[in-house]
Amino acid sequence: MMKERLEKGKTIKEPAREINVFAEAEVVVVGGGPAGVTAAITAAREGADTILVERYGHLGGMATGGLVLMINQFPPGQTQEWMDKLEKVGGAHDLAKTKEPGMMRHAIMVDPELLKCILNNMALEAGVKQLLHSWGTRAIVEKNNVKGIIFESKSGRQAVLGKVIIDATGDGDVFASAGADYDDSVDKGYRSSALAMVFRIGGIDFDIFADFRSANPEKWQAMRDEVDGIAGFHVGPVPAQRKDVFWVNSFIKDKSAIKVEDLTWVETHVRAAMMPVYEFYKKRTPGFEKSYIYDSASQLGTRGSRRLVGEYVLTEEDIKAKKSFDDIVGVFPQAVPTGMAPSGMQKNVGLPYRCLVPASLEGLLAAGRCFSSDQTANTMFNIIPHCVVMGQAAGTAAALAVKNKIQPRKVDYKTLRQRLSAQGVTLP
Ligand SMILES: Cc1cc2nc3c(=O)[nH]c(=O)nc-3n(C[C@H](O)[C@H](O)[C@H](O)COP(=O)(O)OP(=O)(O)OC[C@H]3O[C@@H](n4cnc5c(N)ncnc54)[C@H](O)[C@@H]3O)c2cc1C
Repeated sequence: MMKERLEKGKTIKEPAREINVFAEAEVVVVGGGPAGVTAAITAAREGADTILVERYGHLGGMATGGLVLMINQFPPGQTQEWMDKLEKVGGAHDLAKTKEPGMMRHAIMVDPELLKCILNNMALEAGVKQLLHSWGTRAIVEKNNVKGIIFESKSGRQAVLGKVIIDATGDGDVFASAGADYDDSVDKGYRSSALAMVFRIGGIDFDIFADFRSANPEKWQAMRDEVDGIAGFHVGPVPAQRKDVFWVNSFIKDKSAIKVEDLTWVETHVRAAMMPVYEFYKKRTPGFEKSYIYDSASQLGTRGSRRLVGEYVLTEEDIKAKKSFDDIVGVFPQAVPTGMAPSGMQKNVGLPYRCLVPASLEGLLAAGRCFSSDQTANTMFNIIPHCVVMGQAAGTAAALAVKNKIQPRKVDYKTLRQRLSAQGVTLP
C-alpha cells in the first residue's frame, strides 16, 4: 500500500497561485474511457448535472483510442446499448455468433471510429458537459473531502468543482493525488502488467490467409515466433476483426503505465518495430500481398497500474469462492479468457459497491481498471464490459449521493441496486 510519492532527485518548488474555477457541477467524472463515459452518461441520465473531463479529443479510452476492439463476456447494461447502436450502423462484428439469454454475445469486434461517434452522441443526448483536451492533474482536497480537480489545457491551469468526483482515469490519477492508499504491484506474468501499442494492417485477403493458416498451423506458429524476434516483444495478431483488416496487439513487460519514461519507451520502440513487422507479414503471409499499414493507436495500451484501496478489496479468494455480498452492483460474467491468468475462477462474480469507495477519502468514487482489487481479481476483471459495469454503478451512486445530500459511502445499497436494475443491469 502506498501514497503518492515524490521521485527522488533534483526538485524545484512550484509557486502557489490563484487559479480560475472553470466550472462547477454536481458530478465531475475524470477520464472518458469505458468506465468514465458510462459513469458520466449514467449520472446525467439519473438527473445529476455532470461534467466529463477527458485528456484527449474523443471518448472511449482504450476501446477507441487504444484500438482495443474486442469486447467480450459482457452482461446486459450499457455495453449492450453500445452494441445495439453499433450494430445499427454496421460497427459491431460478431465473431462467435453465440447468443445466450442474459448475456448477449461473446467476442464482438467494434469499429473504433463509429464507437467514438456513438459515445459522443450518448453523452450529448444525456446532457453531459464534455471538457475535452483537458488533463486532470490534481485533486482538490479539503479536510479529507475531495472537492474537485485542477486540470491543464490550452487555456492554462484551471479548476472544476463538484459534489462527487469520479476517478475514471484508469490509472487512479485523481485518488493518488488526493492522498488515497493504493497498490500498484502487478505480477509480471499477468496480462494487466503488460503495455501495448496496437496497430492495424489493412487490405488483406482474409480468405486466402485463413486457408493458409488452417492448412499450416505449425508454420503459422513458427512465423508468429519469428515476428516476436523481429519486434523484440510478444506480438499478438488477431486476424478476425474485419475481413480486410488485421489487428496487431503487443505485450510489453517490465514497463509501467504510470512512468512517463516507460510510456515513451513503449511508444517509440513499438513504432520502430511496426514497419519491419508489417513488412514481414506482407512478404511472407499469403493474403497480405496488397496490404498496407492502416492505422496505429493514438492512445498507448495500458492494461493495469494503480488500484485503489477501497472499503472492500476484491480478492482472488472471493472469486474462487464466488463470495456473496449485500452491495453487489454488477456481475462479471466471466474472467478474461486468456492463458495469462490463474485457473479455478468462477463465472458470474459479484462486484461489491465498496470496491469503488475509497477506504478513507470522502466525495470520491473510483471506477474502471483502478477498482479496489488484488492483482489477480484485477487482471481477471478489468476488461471493457467490466469497466462499463463499474462506471454505471459509480454514476448511479454519485447521482444518488447528490440527490440525498450524502457522501457516496453512505448511499443505500438497496436503493442503488434498485436504480441499477431499473436501468437493465442484471443483479443477483
Ligand atoms: C492492448 C490491450 C488489449 C486489451 N484487450 C482487451 C479485450 O480484448 N477485451 C476487453 O474487454 N478489454 C481488453 N483490454 C482491457 C481494456 O481495454 C481496459 O481494461 C479498459 O479499457 C479499461 O477501461 P477504463 O475506463 O478503466 O480505462 P481506459 O480505457 O484506460 O480509459 C481511461 C480514460 O481516462 C483518460 N484519462 C487518463 N488519465 C487522465 C487524466 N489525468 N485526465 C483526464 N483524462 C484522463 C484517458 O484518456 C481515457 O480516455 C485490453 C487492453 C489493452 C491495453
